[in-house]
Order: sequence, then C-alpha cells, then structure tokens
Amino acid sequence: DLAMHESKKTRNTTIYFKDSIKERVLYDSELGQELKYGLERNEFYMLYQPKVNAQGVIKGVEALVRWQNQALGFVGPDKFIPIAESTGDMVAIGDFVIDKSLADIAAFNCHSDTPLVLSVNISVKQFLHPDFIEKLTHSLQSANFEPCNLIIEITETLFIEDIFGINETLAQVKRLGVQISLDDFGTGYSSLNLLTKLPIDELKIDKSFVDDILVDANAKSMAEGIIAIGKKLDLIVVAEGVETIGQLSELVDMGCDIYQGYYFAKPLSVDDLEAFCGDKITT
Ligand code: C2E
Ligand code: MG
Ligand code: MG
Ligand code: MG
Repeated sequence: DLAMHESKKTRNTTIYFKDSIKERVLYDSELGQELKYGLERNEFYMLYQPKVNAQGVIKGVEALVRWQNQALGFVGPDKFIPIAESTGDMVAIGDFVIDKSLADIAAFNCHSDTPLVLSVNISVKQFLHPDFIEKLTHSLQSANFEPCNLIIEITETLFIEDIFGINETLAQVKRLGVQISLDDFGTGYSSLNLLTKLPIDELKIDKSFVDDILVDANAKSMAEGIIAIGKKLDLIVVAEGVETIGQLSELVDMGCDIYQGYYFAKPLSVDDLEAFCGDKITT
C-alpha cells in the first residue's frame, strides 16, 4: 500500500509509520492497553514546577504527572491523558496524582519555614466523578495537608459540561478551603461572564500568549487584558511558560502576580526541588 511504498523512500521508517493514521490508531490502542497496568507497575511519577513571585521567590509548585512505560518508553501527559480520559483510567491516575503530590509536598512543608502552595491539575472526568469531593476530603486528611495550601487547576473545557453541577462541585471545593485556578486561560470555551459567576481564585495566562508576547501585539494585548480583568476581579494572575527575561520583564511591567516557566525552573523531582529551595535537610 501507499504507506509501505512511501516508507521505503524515507530513512526513518519508524517516524513515518507513527505518522500514518493506521499506525497512530495501533499505537493509541497499545497505549490504552499499557495504561491499564501503569499504576500497578508503578510507572507513573510526579514532578513539581516552581511558581515564583516578581521578586523570584518561590511561592508554590505545580504537580505534573509523568509516565515511563515498559514497552512504549516515556509518554508525555498531553499524549496519554486524553486517551486515559476516554478509557476511564484517568480517574485512578488522578487519584494517584492527588495522593502522591499531597504526601510529597506535606513532607516538604514539614521542614520548611514558608510552606509551598501545591497546584494539582484535575481532569474533566476526575472532576465530574461523583466521589471527587469525598476522595479529596479524605486525601487532605490522610496527608495532613492544610487545605488552603492546595489549588486545583481546571480548564475551560470543563464548562462544556453541565454548568450547574460544576458550580456546585466548585462550591464544595471552596467549602473545604481549597483554592481554584482556571488553567490555560484565554484559549478555551468559556465566556468572560463565567468568571464573575464561578468561585475562582486564580487565572493562568496560557503559554501561547506568553510565547508571543514580544513579537505579536495581539498576544501582548491578551496578556494585558487578562491581567487587568484578574486585578479587577481580585484574582491572582499567573503566567505559564515564561522562558526568557524579555517575556518576564514585559509581564512584570504589566503587573502579573506569579510566574512559572523554564526561565526559573523545569518541572523538578522532590530532591531537585529541595535543592532549588536551598533548604535540603542534611542529617
Ligand atoms: P498545564 O497544566 O498547562 O502545564 C504546563 C505545561 O507546560 C507542562 O507540560 C509544563 O512542563 C510545561 N511548561 C512549563 N513551563 C514551560 C516553559 O517555559 N516552556 C515550555 N515549552 N513548556 C513549559 P506537561 O508537564 O507536559 O503537561 C502538559 C499538560 O498535561 C498540562 O498542561 C496539563 O494540562 C496536563 N497534565 C500534566 N500533568 C497532569 C496531571 O497530573 N493531571 C492532569 N489532569 N493533567 C495533567
Ligand atoms: Mg496546569
Ligand atoms: Mg496551564
Ligand atoms: Mg498549558
């Protein structure tokens, strides 16, 4: 067939086949199969990316899940999370993410003068699961984690679902004392109107606006607009994906509150996080 014929002409046949639709479907179904055993094989682990203020002082971290699979190697979250959502495995993976990151950061905060605030991404299926609040309550208690030091990050894709149910769950999250952040803001579905109706504490300016802030006047206007709205509504505004000092100084001038990106640190293991914070316990 055409794919076979074409592949003979390319030097890297593996890459070529990954790109064909048939191979993509096969790869995705193998990935779906491997996902089922990922948790019991301990293939998932967490990294933590620092969030700093305008003075460069670390204020918190975002927990980011990683998957090192025995057959497929390293698979990024952008690739496996949509598949885990469709197979139903994301709820259990999300439970692992919450429990592991609460335990890690609770332990970290034990020997730190200024506790870090932990941000955890919550998938749509995880958030909509009927036991979400009950499990979150239980996880906070067993990790002995201060609820006000936890932020859950949700995205605008959630609001395609039943808004009343979502708002009730958000209210329950707030009643626990946990904060709520709207991730990748400006790229999704929600109208600005929704911001005044939801109990949101934080807005994260999407990386795409930060990427282009120095080269595209529209991206710059979006960043400025999001910061202005955030300030008016008394929300913390976070810039994600800050990679250069140029982007940073632009955002500092605009009055952004919190910064996250490779310019400061990549997602780190707990050991590297302790080194980054400079308060590693030596015994
Ligand atoms: P996100 O929540 O918007 O996370 C930010 C992503 O940008 C992370 O990618 C992070 O590593 C990356 N990043 C941060 N700073 C920079 C930078 O300066 N430059 C560049 N190029 N990238 C930067 P990652 O870890 O691959 O995660 C991708 C997405 O997957 C996340 O986007 C989030 O939506 C989802 N995700 C990751 N971990 C979890 C998780 O534990 N649970 C759920 N539900 N979703 C997760
Ligand atoms: Mg996030
Ligand atoms: Mg984000
Ligand atoms: Mg993003």
